[in-house]
Formats: sequence, C-alpha cells, structure tokens
Amino acid sequence: MTGDAVAAAARVLREACGPRAREAFPMAPLTTFRIGGPAALYLEAESDEDIAAAAASVAASGIPWTVIGKGSNLLVSDLGFPGLVLRLGRGFRWAARDGRRLRAGGSMPLPALAGVALVHGLTGLEFGVAIPASLGGAVRMNAGAHGSSMRDVVEVVEVFSMGAGRRQELAGVEAGFSYRRSALPAGSVVVGATLLLRPDDRAEIRARMDDIRAWRRRTQPLAEPNCGSVFKNPDGDHAARLVEAVGGKALAVGGAAVSKKHANFIVAHPGATSADVATLIRTLQRRVADRFGIELEPEVQFVGPIDDAGAEDRRQGRAAV
Ligand SMILES: Cc1cc2nc3c(=O)[nH]c(=O)nc-3n(C[C@H](O)[C@H](O)[C@H](O)COP(=O)(O)OP(=O)(O)OC[C@H]3O[C@@H](n4cnc5c(N)ncnc54)[C@H](O)[C@@H]3O)c2cc1C
Repeated sequence: MTGDAVAAAARVLREACGPRAREAFPMAPLTTFRIGGPAALYLEAESDEDIAAAAASVAASGIPWTVIGKGSNLLVSDLGFPGLVLRLGRGFRWAARDGRRLRAGGSMPLPALAGVALVHGLTGLEFGVAIPASLGGAVRMNAGAHGSSMRDVVEVVEVFSMGAGRRQELAGVEAGFSYRRSALPAGSVVVGATLLLRPDDRAEIRARMDDIRAWRRRTQPLAEPNCGSVFKNPDGDHAARLVEAVGGKALAVGGAAVSKKHANFIVAHPGATSADVATLIRTLQRRVADRFGIELEPEVQFVGPIDDAGAEDRRQGRAAV
C-alpha cells in the first residue's frame, strides 16, 4: 500500500473527522499483548457518521481496513497495519435494559455488560464477566466460556455495513455463529446488539460470577500481557493438553513464552516482538502436527503482515525450539 493512498484516505477522513483521524498511530497499547506496530491510519469512531466517513475514505483510496475492539484477541504485526484501523469509541459505549433484554453499543466492555445484567437480575451473561472483550469483538468472535457463548444470548446484531454505508439489523440466527466465529456479511462493523436473558436471583448470579473470576485467577496468567487462548480446541480435545504433551511449556522464542500456568496462553515479556510470537505459534503447530497429526488452528486474529521467517533466521540458536 503506497503512502499516497494512505494520504488520500487521510484527507477524506479529515474532512469529516478533523484531527481525530491519525496517521502512524501506535497499536500496541490498544492490545492486551502490548506488542505490534502502528496503524497507517486510525480513527476512533464516535458515531455512525464517523464510520460512514471511514467507509468513504476507504472507497476513495482503496486502502485496506480493519476494525478492532479491545484488542484482546489480536496479534498485530511488528510492521503494523498498512491501512485504516477503526475502533469504536465512547459514543458506542452504552447499555439499556428493556424487560429481559439488554441492548448495548459495540464498544461496551463485556464484563461491564455482565455487571449491568447482574444489577437487573438477569442471567445468561455470567460467562462474559471475565472475558476482556468489547461487545462488538465478542459478537464477531462468538466469545464464550463455561459452556456458553454469545450465540446463546444474542437476539439481534446491529452492524454498520462499510460497503452499503449504513446500519443494518440481523437476527442472531443470521450471524452464522459457530465455535469462536461468526459469519457476518463482509464489511460488517458490529455497532450494537440486543441480548435476550432470563430473570434470576441476584445473589446466585453474583456467586456464579465470583466463581468464574476466581477460576480465571487460578488458571490464567492474568498479570502478563497475553491474547487469551492462542489456539482453538480441536474437536474432542484441548489445545492446552496437546501443547503440554509436546513439551510446549518449556518453549520460548525471544521475549515470547508459553505460559507456565496455562499451555494455551503465550505471554509477551518485555522486548517481545510479534515475530517472536508467530515463530512460537508455528513451532507449537509443527510439534503437535508431528506427534498427533492434528493441525492446531489459531484463535488469535492476525492483523497486518505476520511473517515469522525473519525471526527464525535472526534467532537461530537462541530459540528454545
Ligand atoms: C485474559 C484473556 C482471557 C480470555 N478469555 C476468553 C474466553 O474465555 N473466551 C473467549 O471466547 N475469548 C477469550 N479471550 C479472547 C478475547 O477476549 C475474545 O476473542 C474477544 O471476543 C475479543 O474481543 P475484542 O473486543 O477484544 O476484539 P479484538 O481482539 O479487538 O478483535 C477480535 C476480532 O474481532 C473483530 N472485531 C472487533 N471489534 C469488532 C466490531 N465492532 N465489529 C466487527 N468485528 C470486530 C476484529 O476485527 C478481530 O477479527 C480472552 C482474552 C484474554 C486476553
């Protein structure tokens, strides 16, 4: 992608959004991994009009675009992203209750939304209390835990179609939810959703949430930068078991290491690069494939050009692989 195309997109975006359209914007702080390079162009959208302006700038320039949420499932390339990165801002952070329904904006944090459900004595969203997602990212990934996922509670998804340049509503069943994925129409930015929950006793909801938080603290490396589960669980098995069985917990590449606490987590120590993480991911995939004939599929989403070849060369002899 040429700098000219990015500059052209930036001009279109600035006409509508002024200096809020940022070039060479650092993305590492926007992710839970805390690594990766800049977005060539970045906008925190506060309204549908902002997203429409983003769509117009992409259409006018041909640059690639992506949308991020709370960056809790992302590996951003060390080179960054060569186009427009869109993120929903505070204008999309709201929630409203209507009987058994909770309607909320796409940037509403899932744990906060679980808290709103608790306040109103509504059950069904306890599983989200410790998933550090935005509602938009959780819908897109069909985030889930403890036997439930967004599929079980989403009644309506509100998307802004970057292609059509306007908001559309989809029924939950039209979102194409399956294990850690959805099949939303191409170009969809999830700007909101309506969840259908059930009334329940507040004390019981709170107790279930407390249990979930305590379990997370016991089993996950929450104090170190990470992206949650690196791999999807293969049918009938657990990625963590497979990684552990091939000696994964002893592996590190540069500043990236498999967590000693949970083998399906990679933690980024100071100085870690995305190339380190990518090399470690591929090493684990190779080991598991060689030993078990199972191809581990990454759950983490790659943003920008992720290529571990350079890292492997640079670190020859240093990587514990
Ligand atoms: C400590 C920890 C624990 C975790 N535990 C769990 C767990 O138990 N269960 C689980 O499922 N996940 C878990 N995750 C992973 C992560 O929280 C989920 O995948 C979550 O759904 C990502 O949401 P996000 O807002 O951070 O999206 P991001 O990570 O920013 O983006 C993820 C994907 O969603 C897309 N996206 C983001 N926002 C939007 C939007 N508004 N519209 C359209 N697409 C969008 C992005 O393009 C990207 O493809 C965990 C992560 C961490 C760090």
